[in-house]
Parts: sequence; C-alpha cells; structure tokens
Amino acid sequence: MATQETVEHKYVYDFAEGNRDLKDLLGGKGANLAEMTNLGLPVPPGFTITTEACQAYLTTGREPDGLAGQIEAHLESLEREMGRRLGDPGDPLLVSVRSGAKFSMPGMMETVLNVGLNDRSVIGLSTQAGGNDRFAWDSYRRLIQMFGKTVCEVPGEEFEHALDEAKHAKGTRNDLDLDADDLRGLVDAYKKIFAKHTGREFPQEPREQLDLAIRAVFDSWNAERAILYRRQERIPADLGTAVNVVSMVFGNLGPDSGTGVAFTRDPGSGAQGIYGDYLANAQGEDVVAGIRNTVPLQELEQLDKSSYDELLGIMARLEEHYKDLCDIEFTIERGKLWMLQTRVGKRTAAAAFVIAGQLVDEGLIDLDEALHRVNGAQLAQLMFPRFQLDHDVPPVAKGIGASPGAASGKVVFTSARAVELAAEGESVILVRRETNPDDLNGMIAAKGILTSRGGKTSHAAVVARGMGKTCVSGADELEVNVPAKKFTVGGHTVGEGDVVSIDGTTGKVYLGEVPVMPSEVVQYFEGSLDPEHIDNPLVRAVHRIMTHADAARRLRVRTNADTGADAARARRFGAEGIGLCRTEHMFLGDRRELVERLILAAGEREREDALAALLPLQRADFVEIFREMDGLPVTVRLIDPPLHEFLPPLEQLAVNVAVAQERGEDVAKEEALLSAVRRMHEENPMLGLRGVRLGLVIPGLFAMQVRAIAEAAVAVTRDGGTACPEIMVPLVGAVQELETVRAEAEKIIAEVVGDSGVEVLIGTMIEVPRAALTAGQIAEAAEFFSFGTNDLTQMAWGFSRDDVEGAFFWRYLELGIFGISPFESIDADGVGRLVRIAAEEGRAARPGLKLGVCGEHGGDPDSVHFFHEVGLDYVSCSPFRVPVARLEAGRAAVSTTGSDSR
Ligand code: PEP
Ligand code: MG
Repeated sequence: MATQETVEHKYVYDFAEGNRDLKDLLGGKGANLAEMTNLGLPVPPGFTITTEACQAYLTTGREPDGLAGQIEAHLESLEREMGRRLGDPGDPLLVSVRSGAKFSMPGMMETVLNVGLNDRSVIGLSTQAGGNDRFAWDSYRRLIQMFGKTVCEVPGEEFEHALDEAKHAKGTRNDLDLDADDLRGLVDAYKKIFAKHTGREFPQEPREQLDLAIRAVFDSWNAERAILYRRQERIPADLGTAVNVVSMVFGNLGPDSGTGVAFTRDPGSGAQGIYGDYLANAQGEDVVAGIRNTVPLQELEQLDKSSYDELLGIMARLEEHYKDLCDIEFTIERGKLWMLQTRVGKRTAAAAFVIAGQLVDEGLIDLDEALHRVNGAQLAQLMFPRFQLDHDVPPVAKGIGASPGAASGKVVFTSARAVELAAEGESVILVRRETNPDDLNGMIAAKGILTSRGGKTSHAAVVARGMGKTCVSGADELEVNVPAKKFTVGGHTVGEGDVVSIDGTTGKVYLGEVPVMPSEVVQYFEGSLDPEHIDNPLVRAVHRIMTHADAARRLRVRTNADTGADAARARRFGAEGIGLCRTEHMFLGDRRELVERLILAAGEREREDALAALLPLQRADFVEIFREMDGLPVTVRLIDPPLHEFLPPLEQLAVNVAVAQERGEDVAKEEALLSAVRRMHEENPMLGLRGVRLGLVIPGLFAMQVRAIAEAAVAVTRDGGTACPEIMVPLVGAVQELETVRAEAEKIIAEVVGDSGVEVLIGTMIEVPRAALTAGQIAEAAEFFSFGTNDLTQMAWGFSRDDVEGAFFWRYLELGIFGISPFESIDADGVGRLVRIAAEEGRAARPGLKLGVCGEHGGDPDSVHFFHEVGLDYVSCSPFRVPVARLEAGRAAVSTTGSDSR
C-alpha cells in the first residue's frame, strides 16, 4: 500500500546541488558558488538558503516550517565534510553568513564572518592556527563587532571608538600592532558594549549565532539603503535575498595569506588582461571596503607564484565557461587558494561595448548575443561629453579612474549636504576618504564621487560604475578632513562649495571648472569619425553592434524635430524620418504676437490677415524640414498649443489695465485684450481648447497649415527633392472630429498638389483614451495612428503631466505603486493596454494602418521593447535618443533568451 508522504519544500541547497541558472532561487552568489564547485574549483564547502525562504520570512515575519530542520541537516553534512563541528571548543568549524540576491547589490546587505566563535572555541581556533593567539582573538573581536552591528543594531562607532582607544593606549595607529593580550582586552570591551546596548550577554551558543545571523541577512533586504539601491537600479522589491553559509577560510593568518579581488578584463575600458587588487594578511571585507590601500594583483606573482599561477588558470577557465568578463573574490590561506565568489562582472558602458566586440572576435559569442550584452542606457552614457583633451588646467592629483565621465561641481563632504545642494539645482562632487553604503543617497545626488582611498573595486567604484556616475577613487594625495569640511592637496585647500572637476577615465582631479568636448561616440554618429579607419576600440565596437542592431530591428526609428537643424542632426544619428513635428513650436518668439492676434481676433478680417501673414512663414519652415528629410516621411502635426502659453497672463494684464486707468491713459486696446483673455481663460488648459478643438473653433487655422505643408511639399518636389508629408491631427477623441478636418484638408491638398506627384497622408494622434477605445471607427478616417503617450498617460491616470512628478511621485515610488514614473517608461498594464487595443482594432478596421509612437516613451529603452512587441511600425524620439532607440529596437528583435545586460 502506498504511504502518504508530504514532500517538504526544499529551502536549503548544498553547493554541489546548485548551478548558475538557479539565480532566482539561490541568488547570484549562491548560484555561482555552486557552479564553481561543480567545475571542480577550490570553493570552501557550504550551503545556500533560498530566496523563497527569505520571501516567506519577510511576508510572515517568521522562518518557514521545515527551514530549521533543513539547516540542521546541511550543517551536519558540512561538519562531516570538514571534520569539524560548528563552534567546537577543541577544533571549531567557523562559517560566514553572506547575503546574495539575484541581482548584485554591492555592500547593501549584511554579512557576518567567524560565526561559531565563543569564549571557548577561540582557544580551539588558536590551536588550529598553530598557536596563533593574536589571530584567534582578532577573529573573535571581529565577530562581536559585526554581529553586534548587523544582528543587534549596536552602533558601529562604539566598537570603532573602543578599537581606537586600544590603539591609543598602545601608542600606535596600526591595527596590526595590537597583540593577543590587547585583542583579548578588546573582546572584553566589545562584550560590554554589546551587553549595554542589547541588555543581554553576547550569545555563546554557535547555533543561536547562526540562526540570528541568517535572520539578520533576511532582514537586511529591507534596510533603507537596500530599498534605495533597488529603486535606483530598478530591481523588483519582492525578490528577497538568499543566504550563503560558507566554511571560513582566513586571509589574515600571516604574510603567506591574503585576499583579493580580480577581473578577467579591465572593467573600465574593456582592455584584455588581468586587473585586480591584493591585500596580504587581510580578510576579504577589508578590500571591498577600501579601508587599506591594496597592491596591484600582479605583485602576487612575487609573493606566491604558485597561487598566482593557479588563479590565472582559474580566471581563464571562468571566462571560457561564462563567455564573459568575470569578477572574482579569492582568499589565500597559508599558500592555499580559495575562490569565494565569481560573477559576470559589472563594467562601464565603454567596456560593455568593447568586451562584447572582443568576445565576438574570440568566437565565444555571436552578434545577437553581443547585442544583448549592451543596452541603450549604456549607449546614452557614452554620448555624454568628456573634458577637452587640450585644456590647459593642470591636475592637482591623480587617483584611479574608477567610473568614466567628466564631472564638475561644488565640493561637499557629506551625503546629506550633497542631497541638499543637488535639490537646489547645484552640481556637486561628493568628496570622502572612502564611501560606505550609508553614502548612497549622496552618491545618487552627486554629479561625481572623489575618494582618497580605495581601488577599482572599492565600494565607491563599484557602486558608481553601476550607476553610470563619474568616480575617481584612491586619490591619495588628497588629505580629506570631513569634520572640517575641507581637503588639502599640493598646498591648496579646498572647502565646501569650491568647484572641482574630476575625470573618471584618467583619474585626474582639477581645481575649478574644466571645459568639456563631445564624446567620440557622438562624433562617430555625426559622421566625423570613420569607424573603419579609426584606432579606437570603443568606436569600432559601437559601429559593429549598431550595424547589427540596424540589420536586426523591425521597428523603424524616427525623430521628433521641428527645426531644420534638429532634423539634420537626427538624420545623421540614423533617424528614418520625422515622427512628430510640433508646429506650435514654430509660433514662439517673434511670431507669438501673430498667434495672439489670431486667437483673439474680433472679426473675420483680422483673423484672415493674421493667417495670411503666417502662411509664408509656415511654408518656409516646412520647406527647410522637407529638404533635410529628403525622401523620408515627415509627420507634421497641426497646431496643438495649450492656449495659455500664447496669451498674456490674465492677472498681469488686469493689473496693467488697472494701473493705466488710474493714470488716466487710453486703455481701450488693452481692455479689449483683457476681455478676450477673460473669455478664453481656462481653469484647466490641458483639458481645454487645444488640438483639433482649436482647429474646429478657429476657422482657417488648420487650413492655413495644410496649405503651407502641401505648398512646401510641392516646392521641394519641383526642385528635384522628394517630400513625403503626413499630416497629423492632434487630440482627436471622436472620428467625427477627424472627418471634419479631413474633408477640408483633402480639398486644399487636391487643389495645391495637382499633378505634382506629391502624396499627402492624413492621420491622427491617439492620445485621448476615447480615441484608443474607438480606434476601429477612427481608423476609417486615418491613414496612420501615432500614439501620443504623454497625453495618453496624463489622461489614463488623470495625472497632470506638468505637476505630478515634482509634487508627489516620490511618495508613489516609495510605496512601490510604480517603480518608475509612467511618464518616463510606458505603463504597460494600463496605458499600454490602450495602445494594444487601438493597434489591434485600428488594424482590424484598416489593414496596413501605419502605427507609430511619438510621446517621450519612444526613446525609453524598456518602452521600445514594448512597442516592438505590440507591433508598431516605428518609434519617434528626440534626436539624441535616436541611436538609443535603434539599439533597443535591435535588441528587442533578436531572441530574448540572451543574457540580461543589467
Ligand atoms: C503626446 O502627447 O505624447 C505628444 C507627443 O504630444 P505633446 O507632448 O506635444 O502633447
Ligand atoms: Mg499630446
């Protein structure tokens, strides 16, 4: 008879049970430790508690059933494998408890090392370490410090203070001068601090230490800085972290031990070679925290040739296996190499392109995969300006170019001040000795980050690279004095508010502001660099990947432009036409007065005069644009001004009239204007008389524009060019509106175009929800639709597009109502649904209906993927975003199974 067994949910995986594809479940660190274990690399044994366990804990506030038992079983098997028991007084097994989410969140969550040490096992550890008492007591004090701070929220400064006092008593500034007795004394001091803050003794029971540390790592998923980082990096809030319990290996057992971080290629430039930092006689955290200055990894060759050679072999193997740049953390314990972590490494935007190109050359990946390894946000970064190469400002210091870009700004020394000044619109450079995860707010607010300590792998460097923020680290000529709010360098003193410039590529630091120049990538797009004949690996890689993206993409990319100059630039950037020419932009400046006359015209005569004056101006505008876009479609949108933008402000006008009356001046004209403005005044102009409504209310306005477009097209064609105008009617909500405009337009077009061969399409924006919902009817009168996702978002959500982002979106983002403003990236579920409905019903009514988007979303990477998937024909965006849209359209078109370039 079959017995009924309940299968317990599996929450714990031995390293040998996992693999790199299980990142969702085991987190990045756990999945890669498993992968390395299975590759036979030297990984200290351990196990991983899954993200599901964390999710269950975070939702219910307690560990899920079965977890404790599974941890017990895996711990026992670990103990068997290591031949030691956790915290055994004679010969203790010690473990580290480390966080590890699906997406790397450097330094944002918690780690506790040396779990298993207590008053008795510290002696056993000393014996294990060959009678090294100093090492054992140092490890114990580190445990109390980390455990106290992380698990029990004891203020970290109290421990720092006690350590400083111990050093002071000894007359030294160096931790290494403290001997075993000093450290034993320090353990006592730490325990007192612990008891004072927690009301209990430091837990001596190893399993209790372990359980509390695991819980603390779970909790750290919701630490403030982790939440902030996730928001910044768009990492979903509900993933949770896995927890890795790993047997400890020690890099601080003497000069034949040490710890390091390495990259298989330069994460800054992408250049091939081995890059890394090594710190002898230290624990892993010391390197990442940037606390002591490291030596280049190459020096390990002299210190320990056999470990160095083994490491190089492993790095080559990992690259081959992962087919990508890997970063690695390792420890050497008395000449024995251990791999503590690997992952596909974060890199700068430039390195992402260069490496993707190299990997294609090396035959490790194909071009489709290369396209997946880069993204539009990275390309956008590469289009930022750099400092002029020939500027004559000498640098005052040189640190490590940790994250590229050029940044100038006012110096600030604290995260809080960075946030304050940035909120006032200032560019700031955050200067610190080293940064730590609590500086995250300031790093986000700053234009650039400058530190006097730490290498390419320090916290500041890693986080800045991830954010695409300019960073110079380890500029050790700087004497940074945070309390005094100043730093000194080469005889100069720089205080808060003084301007400095930093170059995140060269690592150079300048006083004052340094002039900038455009990026090579922009020069390439502008056509002034020939990619085939230039010795610049970045430009060559960008060219190659863009060429592939263009070949692969289905979406066309147009631009939003309303001047000849913008149209020309966009065309150089690869635009395949204009998707939105906002004609109201042509009525600013000198012409504003004509529009004002038109809107306020009292009689037919006045109106006709104003229109007659506008016609030739408009015609000339369109001729210029059609010439620049010769042979390509140009969508000209009929005027859509929010009226208030063209009229004098009511209050101001009323005051002027009152003052003039008081003075006894003749105010007849002003009074007429005032009464007209009063008549036209709207409480809510965005929902008022604009777009097609204005065209239907003011006779002759749209007719004048249609005539100007048609005449310009004919003129350009007669000159031998090819104009392909598409007339677009804004803010349509009902097919009758469009039909009315269309009937009048068709007559004018027929009359102007004659037998010139010019063809003019007439279509509409879909930007009012009702238009999306009646798209089937509207398509009967439209040859194309262009989605105006700015207004569509405004009206679908009922969010005023001019006000809400500054007013209260911060709260919505904080509450997770959305992860990013729906004005920035398409709200696929709501606004996107309207787009989908309109696309489907429009095409059902008129097969072959041309579909595009011209709202801001047309240049947003995630939105481009959405529009591809919905089946639009093109996206249209501002000129500078055209290359980004081309790249993302290519990425959307190639298989979506490739790696995520996050
Ligand atoms: C839109 O609403 O998305 C659009 C493109 O038009 P505008 O931004 O000019 O209102
Ligand atoms: Mg609009």
